[in-house]
This record gives sequence, C-alpha cells and structure tokens, in this order.
Amino acid sequence: MNKVHHCKELVSSLSDYVDGSLSEELCLELEKHLLDCENCTVVVNTLKKTIDIVQEQKTQDKIPSDVKQRLFYRLNLAEFGKEETP
Ligand SMILES: [Zn+2]
Repeated sequence: MNKVHHCKELVSSLSDYVDGSLSEELCLELEKHLLDCENCTVVVNTLKKTIDIVQEQKTQDKIPSDVKQRLFYRLNLAEFGKEETP
C-alpha cells in the first residue's frame, strides 16, 4: 500500500528525471525504485520514447512548419474547388 503512494510521488518527478533536470539524489532514489517497480519502469520508458519522438521532430522541424501551412492551405483550396465544381 505504501509503495503505491511512493509511486505517485516519484511519478511527479519522472518527467524531470527523463528530462535530466532532476537532482542526483532524487535520480538515485528513483532508479532504486525502478528496479522494484514495473509500473514506473513502463512509465519511464514511455516518457523516454515520447521525448525521443518530440526531439526528433524538433530537429526535423526546420522546413515543415511553413510547408505544413501551405499544405493545409492547399487542402482547403482543394476542398473548396471540389464543392464549387460539382
Ligand atoms: Zn513505482
């Protein structure tokens, strides 16, 4: 029962942990806990994957934001076109 409470406390620092901004002391505590707790391990892995994806997108995001806007604009126009030419 106590364990679950501990989980909740740690989960609130998990994003900091994955982010690398958690204090070393808490990191160690968390890592110790992860050895015993599958639930938190899953959460950490999911967070890490999510962050990896976000960072990958950020590095590839140099071109897209503009392109995306143009694409949306085009799609809107295309749909307008469809409706206007039955
Ligand atoms: Zn846990």
